Amino acid sequence: MKLREGPASFVDGETIEVGGRRFRAKRIFVCVGSHPAVPPIPGLRDVDYLTNETLFSLDRLPESLIILGGGAIGCEMGQAFARLGTRVSIAHATSTSCRTATRRRGASSSRCSRRKGSR
Ligand SMILES: Cc1cc2nc3c(=O)[nH]c(=O)nc-3n(C[C@H](O)[C@H](O)[C@H](O)COP(=O)(O)OP(=O)(O)OC[C@H]3O[C@@H](n4cnc5c(N)ncnc54)[C@H](O)[C@@H]3O)c2cc1C
Repeated sequence: MKLREGPASFVDGETIEVGGRRFRAKRIFVCVGSHPAVPPIPGLRDVDYLTNETLFSLDRLPESLIILGGGAIGCEMGQAFARLGTRVSIAHATSTSCRTATRRRGASSSRCSRRKGSR
């Protein structure tokens, strides 16, 4: 396996270029990470919201924080900020958080988040 450091760009459907060198393969697997999608939540585009990419750039601890979405990452971030001293509220579309978990685990996670300081 060869490791070449640097930004890659496509030359054609079977060739990429990195640092002036070209690499060819029949198949090219793109795994360059992802960006948060901005969902069509009314009013969201009009406010200065944070995402998982900007949350960690805060230079001071916010006094309060609302997290939209109580999935795994929302719960994880909520708990982390609550433990650091921020007043955290999690808004979640269903009655239990961590929607990928089973209903029972989600309910238990909701209780756990409340104990750890999230509302
Ligand atoms: C807050 C948060 C918490 C998470 N916690 C967990 C967890 O506890 N457990 C878990 O399993 N997952 C967790 N995840 C998810 C996990 O981080 C991602 O699923 C994982 O990093 C994705 O890996 P990836 O290789 O697809 O992308 P990345 O890790 O983002 O790697 C992509 C790489 O591609 C490079 N790249 C981009 N463009 C180019 C280009 N043109 N040429 C060459 N290189 C390029 C980038 O520099 C980067 O190094 C978390 C994610 C977030 C946001």
